[in-house]
Amino acid sequence: MLPPPDPRFAAQSSWLEIDAQALAQNARVLRDVLGAGVRLGGVLKGNAYGHGFAQVLPLAHAACDILYVIDPRDALEVRGFEAKGGVPRRQVLVLGAVEADEAVALARAGVDLALTDSGQERFVPALRAAGVRLRGHVHIDTGLGREGFTPGELASGLGFLAAARDVIEVAGVLSHFANTEDVTEQSYALSQLAAFDEGTRRLREALGGAGELERHIAASAAALLLPHARYDAVRAGIALYGLWPSNETRLSMRALTGRVPELKPVLAWRCQSQLTKWLPKGSYVGYGCTFRCPVDTRIAVLPLGYFDGYPRLLSSRAHVLVEGQRCPVLGRVMMNHVVVDVTRAQGQGALVATLLGRDGDEQVPADQLAAWAQTINYEIVTRIGAHLRRIVV
Ligand SMILES: *Cc1c(COP(=O)(O)O)cnc(C)c1O
Repeated sequence: MLPPPDPRFAAQSSWLEIDAQALAQNARVLRDVLGAGVRLGGVLKGNAYGHGFAQVLPLAHAACDILYVIDPRDALEVRGFEAKGGVPRRQVLVLGAVEADEAVALARAGVDLALTDSGQERFVPALRAAGVRLRGHVHIDTGLGREGFTPGELASGLGFLAAARDVIEVAGVLSHFANTEDVTEQSYALSQLAAFDEGTRRLREALGGAGELERHIAASAAALLLPHARYDAVRAGIALYGLWPSNETRLSMRALTGRVPELKPVLAWRCQSQLTKWLPKGSYVGYGCTFRCPVDTRIAVLPLGYFDGYPRLLSSRAHVLVEGQRCPVLGRVMMNHVVVDVTRAQGQGALVATLLGRDGDEQVPADQLAAWAQTINYEIVTRIGAHLRRIVV
């Protein structure tokens, strides 16, 4: 645990610690599972799953073969980082929505783009006018019902790509699973794999002499659980950050392989108390007077709240860790304040509370916060405010 942060920033004294070694270890664990010949891609969308794009970029760049982003500006930031640091370029692929001028910028920067629908035909004149060639990966919607060409749309999609060969090079083909993390039997994933293979076959046929296509469909869960979904590359998000896609994924992993690889959470979220004080028995705490102290109670007021991404659903449910001990959240989580019971804490000055992560022998995992807040660990970490300080440790 870090010492409390610089008191000049006391008003925002909640901070995130990003464990560089944990991320490197998770990448090694994933490579181990994948074996040789499968490229490891890291997904940096959602502010690097809330861990901080700027802080994670150097770590993921070193640990992964490919970087996947949603926002084209993030891809350009990767190129800027490489140019500034004099590090070799990684393959970068934009999975998300882009405008024609952004497609031109990506082509110039040597960034790949997912080709998801016929509406992208509008990129063609812009690319021609700019005199650049874009590397695209055809996204086939094999059953998620999100972006990508459905099998029925593929013929018309391939038509526009065949006519745009001068400015769009089809370098890969991808898809995305719908429910690999929700189930322990993977029949739907198998139907998606069959559709992916069929779509890839039609794509190859339509493009004739095109070079090798990079095939990728697996996110974390499928990368771990489905060996024949690994193809040429996997797109690992949540697992790279040391979190399991779901409990089902962890259970399936044990059932299928007899062992559960050790992923190490990369993130800890801590803060320094704004003040501590004693409230006499019978006092109320927080909006709605939902908590009343049954005995004299020492409280700590923590300077963070739902504005910072600490869910209001954690009201009266969660605990934080102080001096390695569980301290319950009292009453409602407020916009900028959380009140916790620190009666058992020894420290007299400002206390350091761990909202997420480990402190001594205790920990508050993202999965635990997710269960309390009726959501998934993905949402817990990605919603942690982008305004908070992130420190790589
Ligand atoms: C988010 C996402 C991933 C990564 O998913 P994880 O479950 O976090 O590994 C991979 N591919 C696509 C298309 C995604 O949207």
